[in-house]
Amino acid sequence: MEQIETVMCCFCGKSLTHKDSVEIEISIANSEESQCIFSHKKCLKKVLDKNVPIGIDIDDEN
Ligand SMILES: [Zn+2]
Repeated sequence: MEQIETVMCCFCGKSLTHKDSVEIEISIANSEESQCIFSHKKCLKKVLDKNVPIGIDIDDEN
């Protein structure tokens, strides 16, 4: 049986399924350190300024 992987949205703190999430890789400039965090598409859209160019489809279907 396949287990549904869930992650936590970094903006609202609620859990969501990994397949519905946006992966956000964060890293510090001039550092090897990086980390992957997750969010709802709608939460990401809400916090981003309208002028930020997004080349991927983060429009929430729901
Ligand atoms: Zn969220």
